[in-house]
Amino acid sequence: MAFEEGYLIPFRKNLPEDPKTADQLIDVDRGGLSFRPITGVFENVAELDFFSMYPSIIANYNLSYETINCPHRECTAKLPTGYRVCTKREGIVPKALRFLLNRRIHYKELMKRSQNRREIFDRRQKGLKWLLVVSFGYLGYKNAVFGRIESHETTTAIGRQLLLFVKEIAESRGFRLLHALTDSVWIYRKDATEKDYRELETVLNEKLKRRFKGINKNLIDFRINLEGIFDWIVFLPSKEDGIGVPNRFYGKFRNRELKVRGIELRRSDSPYFIKVFQEEVLNVLKKANNKEEFLDKLKETEELLNSYKDKLRNGDFSIFQLSVKKRVSKDPTTYQKRTDISETAGTLLKEGIKVNPGERINIIYVKDKYIKGLPLEIYIKHPKPLDINRYERLLEDSYLPFRIVRSML
Ligand SMILES: [Zn+2]
Repeated sequence: MAFEEGYLIPFRKNLPEDPKTADQLIDVDRGGLSFRPITGVFENVAELDFFSMYPSIIANYNLSYETINCPHRECTAKLPTGYRVCTKREGIVPKALRFLLNRRIHYKELMKRSQNRREIFDRRQKGLKWLLVVSFGYLGYKNAVFGRIESHETTTAIGRQLLLFVKEIAESRGFRLLHALTDSVWIYRKDATEKDYRELETVLNEKLKRRFKGINKNLIDFRINLEGIFDWIVFLPSKEDGIGVPNRFYGKFRNRELKVRGIELRRSDSPYFIKVFQEEVLNVLKKANNKEEFLDKLKETEELLNSYKDKLRNGDFSIFQLSVKKRVSKDPTTYQKRTDISETAGTLLKEGIKVNPGERINIIYVKDKYIKGLPLEIYIKHPKPLDINRYERLLEDSYLPFRIVRSML
């Protein structure tokens, strides 16, 4: 697009951040809004998500490296962060994102109308969704050619306003906000039906349109959509202080789909047997259609925990299913503390294998006087008795997101 529009494209960016006072920095440099959720099990909870929130903000407020604090005298429009923004011409970034946004809207429309090509249109709009997500992320990178920190700050500032606006309207209509994270909210009202949630969705969209007008003439309406209603959802506390954490929850939508965030199942370093275990637990819970049934099913899952412990002791898992993948963060010789990563990387080094920062190693926990774990490669050649207790602890830990529910009631 830059080529087509005749932009000069800098070979290297040379646009330092404008000076700010400490107060200004505190005001603007805040990122996305995230709440600490109210922990516990809830039923009949609705999730509402903004449609490509950050890209819409960029497009609607003309946020681009060349439009913020532009040199024109006549551009006096101010952004919520206090920066001026150009009203004479559209910036390159908003223009590019508007193109992607309109395409995504187009595919969503086609999806609604189409019978046999729904899946195709859905994949296209999802592809565009992620392209839009990373576009925003990339603009915050200091060497992004068309990036600019001030536009990044303004985007998240308006994002926070949007989220708080939604919260206020939902609350004024008797809904309770359980959680909010960047561009999603989880709300609840005891007897709310799907119709009530749909009505709220409509009201929100009308009010958003009136309140957030942007400055771009080619406005793309801010839209918030009902993502789904959870039969039940669990917001988990942090392991450290017991208070809710933004991105640790699991729940089941009315359409039987699960949504899981922040537990071992979603982590790339968790061993296979842990992931399978959590998946099995969730599959049992998935049968529950409300909080009461959920609590019933939860009891059943304790048997699963015991059966997995038995499997561990009987040696039913292969060594590959037990290996824990960990990322080495620095040169293995520079670790100050002895951890399982430094130890395993050290063992590999002795064997002439240098592990570089960023690489992953597979660790097998063994029962040994001197070491906690062995690299998978070495273990295969020289097996030792496994540290089953350690694996059992991993299993117990991965059951915590389920066990803890009872103490939250
Ligand atoms: Zn201007």
